[in-house]
Amino acid sequence: MGGTFDPIHHGHLVAASEVQAWFDLDEVVFVPTGQPWQKTEREVSPAEDRYLMTVIATASNPRFRVSRVDIDRAGPTYTIDTLRDLHAQIPGAELFFITGADALGNIFTWRDAGELFDLAHFVGCTRPGYDVAPTLLDNIPGDRVTMVEIPALAISSTDCRHRTAAGDPVWYLVPDGVVQYISKYDLYLPHQPVGTL
Ligand code: ATP
Ligand code: MG
Repeated sequence: MGGTFDPIHHGHLVAASEVQAWFDLDEVVFVPTGQPWQKTEREVSPAEDRYLMTVIATASNPRFRVSRVDIDRAGPTYTIDTLRDLHAQIPGAELFFITGADALGNIFTWRDAGELFDLAHFVGCTRPGYDVAPTLLDNIPGDRVTMVEIPALAISSTDCRHRTAAGDPVWYLVPDGVVQYISKYDLYLPHQPVGTL
């Protein structure tokens, strides 16, 4: 399961658990994306923080683990590289790439799209507020993609960051250890001058 995980939240964890059960997967490997190389509209938290929060959130589930392949590879993260690296690490594995239905559209615009389908079966998780464009699945071989409806959990990382910046709680939206990590390392606080009384 690929994602920025900035921070990881219960929407991600429920989606992973549902897909694991649905396909009877041996394990779900969470793969935090590398650091964006271009200036984006917002600053993404350091890869190490996102990695550690993902480890904390998944530690108690024996079927969940976290991979560093994308954060240890220099440059932007492309799904094709993620899948090639995972195949090299787990030879012979049948891979399922789990992502949000919203993200699927972007993945398949890449020129390697044909090879992507050879490397993995794609699972698109639908979530509240994100409708799948009817044309999205037109060019995709039907036997290589499955859309899975995840129980309505209207949680997003964006909302968790905004809540933290506003001083609102994120308890129960993210795992307890992640709440404590965010507070310990002062993540997602608004950038404002300190020291004025
Ligand atoms: P952001 O708000 O920063 O975009 P996000 O909540 O979408 O964060 P990502 O790290 O981008 O989190 O998510 C990784 C994948 O998990 C995405 O493809 C996303 O669609 C999916 N996802 C995120 N939240 C949910 C949810 N509540 N239910 C199901 N899937 C989700
Ligand atoms: Mg997102």
